[in-house]
Amino acid sequence: MPKLIGIDLGTTNSCVSFMENGQAVVIPNAEGSRTTPSVVAFTKNGDRLVGTAAKRQAVTNASRTFSSVKRDMGSDKRYTVDGKSFSPQEMSAMILRKLKEDAEAYIGESVTDAVITVPAYFTDAQRQATRDAGVIAGLNVRRIINEPTSAALAYGFGRGEPCKVMVYDLGGGTFDVSILDINPETIEVLATAGNNRLGGDDFDQCVVGWLLDRFRKEHHIDLSKDAMAMQRLTEAAEKAKIELSAAAEAVINLPFLAQGSSGPMHLEAALTRTEFNRLTEHLVNATRGPVQQALDDAGLKPRDLSRVLLVGGSTRIPAVQDAVRQITGKEPSRNINPDECVAMGACLQGGVLTGAIHSIVLIDVTPLSLGVETLGDVFAPIIDRNTPLPCRHSKVFTTAANFQTSVEINVLQGECANASGNHSLGRFRLEGIRRALRGIPQIEVSFSIDTNGIVHVTAKDLATERSQNITISGSGNMSREEVDRAVRDAEAYAAKAAREKKEKDRTAENGVRDDGAYDA
Ligand code: AMP
Repeated sequence: MPKLIGIDLGTTNSCVSFMENGQAVVIPNAEGSRTTPSVVAFTKNGDRLVGTAAKRQAVTNASRTFSSVKRDMGSDKRYTVDGKSFSPQEMSAMILRKLKEDAEAYIGESVTDAVITVPAYFTDAQRQATRDAGVIAGLNVRRIINEPTSAALAYGFGRGEPCKVMVYDLGGGTFDVSILDINPETIEVLATAGNNRLGGDDFDQCVVGWLLDRFRKEHHIDLSKDAMAMQRLTEAAEKAKIELSAAAEAVINLPFLAQGSSGPMHLEAALTRTEFNRLTEHLVNATRGPVQQALDDAGLKPRDLSRVLLVGGSTRIPAVQDAVRQITGKEPSRNINPDECVAMGACLQGGVLTGAIHSIVLIDVTPLSLGVETLGDVFAPIIDRNTPLPCRHSKVFTTAANFQTSVEINVLQGECANASGNHSLGRFRLEGIRRALRGIPQIEVSFSIDTNGIVHVTAKDLATERSQNITISGSGNMSREEVDRAVRDAEAYAAKAAREKKEKDRTAENGVRDDGAYDA
């Protein structure tokens, strides 16, 4: 049977898990930690570092160190190092490859397949980008599943009693809230909502802004353009934020942060939890709307929930927990590990796919409505948000002008009544429509979404039966050829790195032997 791992590819940290004796087990990385920083770095001598090694040297190599790449998935952002440009998919693939290799070293077998999680609120382009990253890393991506659903699976697996659960997931870069109906044999997502650009990084940035202000007031110097100082400030801000989850005050001490005419300048500041809460209140409040929307879409009141599960590192912030308590009137459950449950759920889902687990069926939903643009900038939804997956829906449209023989289909995802307010997933043309007065031709547009949440669209002229179909590929996404090329590049790099490691190990071994010979 192919060896399958479950991967939580996080904005800040990633985690990998596999099935052992019917249980999901978290795999420690080569450095012995249960999570791996989602950081990639390129050293000056051409080596690539991933995880802790990359994070550790971020201050001294800030311009060649990349973190929070997940925020750019599905966009056309490129990272350039030594004249070579990498897509967010390729960067993420480097993280996935390390997780795969660490898993292989731990299990002692080669790993071929993976289930990878994404925020429930990820768009189609972001999901495709994640799947491509897995392919580039040499993985057969069996399923893309939503993080809160995965967390609920880890929580609900093997639990006897039916219950309705809210998963409040605030990670490093994204916020999701999902409401699930957990039964002994099924886990059904009733509704999901969120914000793809809200997470722990934003809390860090608030603290960085506060520190920059203090430094500016004290020394009249703006550090915001100094990459190395900014890297140190960001790290110190995150550290202070984490300390404030357990203490009332955090002291930030950054010696030699800048060089002035009168010598080196240092930064020392004490940030209280009260001040931190004031700086970040708007971020905590930004989670309230999606929570309410998910409850409304599920047709539930907070009192109908049996439990509220907190997932993602940022739910350790006391003000976040207070907000959850206040919105739901419930004490959030802490009996799942917010850093590990997502990866564990992913490998349980893998167990379902490989047949290792028979007892549970997972029913997920699409997070955003899908439809097409019609005359006058109007969005015509074809699949409503929170429709269970997989699904297929069609609508018949007509032409806007007399004797029009082609139409352009603009595929949109979002909740805005105006077409221009939504995210365009792509456009395509249906040609060869039979000439007729406007309003006569009947063009059937069908959307289907598979269990990975990936969209396929067909447009058909019902008179001629002529049709055109596409699998949507967002503007930032890679073509099949680009993915193939990236797979070859990644394999070539992995082979080169393996050769070099072997060479280094051999040299080190010889060194030990030489030493041994000398000692003797
Ligand atoms: P995740 O994407 O779930 O790994 O969450 C990572 C985010 O959680 C990062 O922004 C971390 O800084 C944040 N985080 C981790 N531990 C804590 C903590 N104890 N208090 C506040 N934030 C934390």
